[in-house]
Amino acid sequence: MTKSFDNVIIGGGASGLMLAANIELDGARGIILEGSSCIGSKLLMSGGGRCNITHGGSIKDFLFAYGDKGPLLRKCLYRHSNADLMKWLEDHGVKLTDENGRIFPASMRARDILDAFHEAAERNGWQIRTGAKVSGLSNEEDHFDVTLENGETLGARNVVIATGGITYPETGSDGSMFKILKGIGAEITEPRSALAPVYIEDYPYADLAGISIKDVTATVLSSDAACICKGKAVSMTGDVLFTHDGLSGPAILNISGYAESGGKISLSYNKDLQDLPKRMQRVLQDRARGESGDIKTTVLASLLVHDDFTVRSVDSRGMVTAGGVSLEELDMHTMRMKRVDGIYVIGEAIDADGITGGYNLQMCWSTACAAADDIRKNYSV
Ligand SMILES: Cc1cc2nc3c(=O)[nH]c(=O)nc-3n(C[C@H](O)[C@H](O)[C@H](O)COP(=O)(O)OP(=O)(O)OC[C@H]3O[C@@H](n4cnc5c(N)ncnc54)[C@H](O)[C@@H]3O)c2cc1C
Repeated sequence: MTKSFDNVIIGGGASGLMLAANIELDGARGIILEGSSCIGSKLLMSGGGRCNITHGGSIKDFLFAYGDKGPLLRKCLYRHSNADLMKWLEDHGVKLTDENGRIFPASMRARDILDAFHEAAERNGWQIRTGAKVSGLSNEEDHFDVTLENGETLGARNVVIATGGITYPETGSDGSMFKILKGIGAEITEPRSALAPVYIEDYPYADLAGISIKDVTATVLSSDAACICKGKAVSMTGDVLFTHDGLSGPAILNISGYAESGGKISLSYNKDLQDLPKRMQRVLQDRARGESGDIKTTVLASLLVHDDFTVRSVDSRGMVTAGGVSLEELDMHTMRMKRVDGIYVIGEAIDADGITGGYNLQMCWSTACAAADDIRKNYSV
């Protein structure tokens, strides 16, 4: 016999658990189906195991962190803000601390954040089933059929997709749900790695590996309207780290979602030559040498403001996934799919992603709470 539930959450990561922590089932039947053998694996990795859960300051200052998706996320960010997330955690016994605007658990243990959401979800009456990978979803007359890889089918009045992105597939977030959603007609923006190091063709700075330069402006350049950044230049200023075969550090990670193979990245160092590390000064001088061996001052001056590179590739192990379920598909008040009533999409599975600093877990919280409000209202759970 098919087991039936009022609410099925697919994915037991940060956003799925945040949603369950915010809906008291009170007699209704709800289950979280987690495909891997344990819940919250990516949450436990976040912030190097310390979990930068959100950012301090006014929520109004968050929108820039999501690029052109910021204005679309405004409604749910404002309604379920960083202040709400911090209050929820402190009310549930997790003390927080602020490190230059980044909010962490005072214990510096991501596990404390995971435990708080997990315990609240269980207290609210949610069943949690691990090793339950979903392989099919179909829209029946008055319910959805959710099929598991073992062939079992569960009935659901409404379904929340909280299956994350494509990076670190060993955590269970392998993008498998995107194919299933395409099957029910959802528009998916091709998922790609973001917040990732970038590899460079004919890289000149291998000998500088490990050197980090402060306050560098990194720009993804494009004149091609068909590329990810749609012909616009996307810039970030911050630290840039030279690696053996490319560029990393916050400024690079934060623009990496817009970079693509064959595209251009330009660095402007925002300083005079003598303010750069000695080793780097020597490499730049060598690059500015003409055939006669003289340093060409105009070339050197230009390298300081326009050091251009061709992207070989973006590391596939990004901290987040750019792309996912198109925001056009969703009512951004409720995270409900417009064309399939009863399906919600939250967290990293949506086509939005933030820069480093706690903005991605904040997006998980805000989208999860928006869906929770609607589920409570419409299904009188
Ligand atoms: C190394 C690293 C460090 C990070 N640090 C930070 C940080 O400090 N601050 C911050 O804000 N963000 C950080 N992030 C990003 C943040 O962790 C993620 O954006 C967030 O965890 C996404 O949550 P989610 O629930 O949407 O998806 P996930 O956490 O990816 O959860 C999705 C879940 O769905 C399950 N699933 C997938 N497909 C199926 C299926 N077909 N059937 C059943 N289950 C399925 C997966 O197994 C997984 O458990 C970091 C990410 C990484 C990788």
